[in-house]
Amino acid sequence: MPALVYFHKQFMPVSEAKISIMTHAFHYGTACFEGIRANWNQEKQQMYVFRMKEHYERLQKSCRILKIKLPGSIDHLCQITAELVERSGFKEDVYIRPLAYKSSEVIGPKLYDLEDDFFVHVAQLPMYLDTEKGIKACVSSWRRTDDSMIPPRGKITGIYVNSALAKTEAHENGYDEAIMLSHDGHVSEGSGQNIMLVMDGKFVTPQSSDNILMGITRDSVMKLARNELGMEVVERTIDRSELYIADECMVTGTASHVTPVLEIDHRPIGDGKIGKVTRQLMTLYFDVIHGRNQKYMEWCAPALRKTVKA
Ligand code: PMP
Repeated sequence: MPALVYFHKQFMPVSEAKISIMTHAFHYGTACFEGIRANWNQEKQQMYVFRMKEHYERLQKSCRILKIKLPGSIDHLCQITAELVERSGFKEDVYIRPLAYKSSEVIGPKLYDLEDDFFVHVAQLPMYLDTEKGIKACVSSWRRTDDSMIPPRGKITGIYVNSALAKTEAHENGYDEAIMLSHDGHVSEGSGQNIMLVMDGKFVTPQSSDNILMGITRDSVMKLARNELGMEVVERTIDRSELYIADECMVTGTASHVTPVLEIDHRPIGDGKIGKVTRQLMTLYFDVIHGRNQKYMEWCAPALRKTVKA
């Protein structure tokens, strides 16, 4: 299936969507983006876009930080995205990448007096982390960028150099994923995932002031842990050594889903197998994102058969 993109108010094959080598965002990382999943429900013969509105709300916040103007309201962007998924004709799980960027062909790192542009791309995504097998992680020697440097609450392209350094170091040392600490040494997040621990029956995760992206999967899984498993959910500062003594650990993200972490820094987490809570949350989460759980259908937007006015 050829990848489709919405670019310059049109739907087109990705091969036709080109930008200049002098684009500001390419030189300085001055762009904001999202990663959204649309998932195929075989029984209902429908693609469901997961928490699309919340993704665009987050994009709007990221854009405020970078002074980027989006080309329309959140409703408009949701409609474009649903139509893109519809037009692309996928009947399988896909990954949607909206990106808003400084498009001027101007030299100099700044955010003012520049033009903005926007596109949405959709394509298949090969398995990102091995959800079924679980992963081995390390604590990275790279620290997460602080809010006073590049704010991690914004999904800003430039900050992903920090993620890429951490992920590469982890990979080259034989691990699947990196866990970054904040500048002051507390557990922050993975290169593209939030971190959750199960400790003494509680569901524990770093709070927003520990320089994390406020993940939409994180929010979904916290709600599922609270509502469906009756767990107490605690957002607090977490020390590195707490990773080693947790009963269970999982990472969450749109690309990564809910992935069990079985080992950190050569220490097995719990008994080194996928834990009970993690397993329950994985099952719940997969049903929810595929529109198979009636209770959470408000999180699933069907791809529409509707034309967007340019
Ligand atoms: N942290 C980082 C750094 C990420 O890139 C992502 C992926 N967007 C996440 C956390 C998880 O966010 P979400 O669940 O909204 O995909």
